[in-house]
Amino acid sequence: MPRLIADRPVLRMTSELGKVMAAARAREQAGERVMHLERGEPDFDTPPHIVEALAAAARAGETHYPDQRGTLVLRQTLVEKLARENGIHCEPDDIVMANGGTHALFLAFQALLGPGDEVLVLSPHWMAIPKLVGFAAGSGFRTMPLYLELLEGTLDPAGLAARLRAAIQPQTRGIYVNTPNNPTGAVLTKEQLAAIAAVAVERDLWVISDEAYEHLVFDGARHISLASLPGMPERTLSVYTFSKSYSMTGWRVGYMVSPPALRAVMGPLLAFYTTHGVFPSVQSAARAAVTGPQDVVEHMRRAYQERRDVLLAGLAGQTAIRVPTPRGAFYAFANVGAALAGRDIWALVEEWLELGVAVLPGTAFGPEYREWVRLSLATRREDVAEAAVRLKHHYLSVGTP
Ligand code: PMP
Repeated sequence: MPRLIADRPVLRMTSELGKVMAAARAREQAGERVMHLERGEPDFDTPPHIVEALAAAARAGETHYPDQRGTLVLRQTLVEKLARENGIHCEPDDIVMANGGTHALFLAFQALLGPGDEVLVLSPHWMAIPKLVGFAAGSGFRTMPLYLELLEGTLDPAGLAARLRAAIQPQTRGIYVNTPNNPTGAVLTKEQLAAIAAVAVERDLWVISDEAYEHLVFDGARHISLASLPGMPERTLSVYTFSKSYSMTGWRVGYMVSPPALRAVMGPLLAFYTTHGVFPSVQSAARAAVTGPQDVVEHMRRAYQERRDVLLAGLAGQTAIRVPTPRGAFYAFANVGAALAGRDIWALVEEWLELGVAVLPGTAFGPEYREWVRLSLATRREDVAEAAVRLKHHYLSVGTP
């Protein structure tokens, strides 16, 4: 028999999410109730006016090969959105439409990383990042724990800059930053971002700024785009998606803004090596999302913030689970060190599954997070409440080991 699977480490990577979801499904099939706090999948339907725009566009014949970078009219709309909301000033040709933020990140790493190059990944990081870097042959990454300290305010901007400077090596070509952050809910402040920007400029690095959760910020926090800071437009690739803001995960549509120097490679990367662009009717619907009523975004943002509050209130008064208050995105990253008592994090994930609460182990977000779990708030409010009740009850009855 021929060896069918190529000898490439990226093809052997496994998914913690897949493992937890399969275990949760098995329990549901056995008749148990499971609260799905493992997946970052908004439970809202896509707003109807966006769905209608897709149908109308398809009926009007927007069904042919797309412009590889995206329709000009959508990119013009996004130029205006980026100037208005993100403080980023660019031209339509600096934008490429992609099949979601994941695909945009894939393109970014493909364009930037060559053999021997390394990207510094601030962590805890979204679990797809090692795989996306892994597809850029011959390159690697190093993680750098930061978001928890930035969220809790225990590292000042000068300390942050010093930490970054110390981590940079000759092979480091860039930094991957994600604000609002999945999984901690950290929303980086202007001062924190300015510290990152200063080091990037000083060491001549590029930055990938993953802003998938740009609209999901709580308690009046403001989302700031790295590319809006001085010295950054020429070195920042900013990634956005319709998945979270408009609950459009299944549509697979997002985009990237990159410096003009990358114009020559982004189009061909899309056309020849990946998807040849995004379905034109989906792009018309995406345009309807940006130009249509924005109260749908606010409605969902408020719901996530309420669920966060429900979770925090529900867990109050016990000491086994400590949750640094998330300021954005729709996750809570919880320290469960007190409940672990030396056990492996998977033992706790399984114990919680028995309680009907599905979560992801912190190790999915970086090797250091052996005492953490991620709870997703992208699930029904009553399930968030019930999960908190069950966890609190469990730890109050068994006590902290
Ligand atoms: N970045 C981050 C930090 C994410 O959490 C996600 C989705 N979970 C994405 C990018 C990409 O989402 P999509 O491909 O659906 O646009």
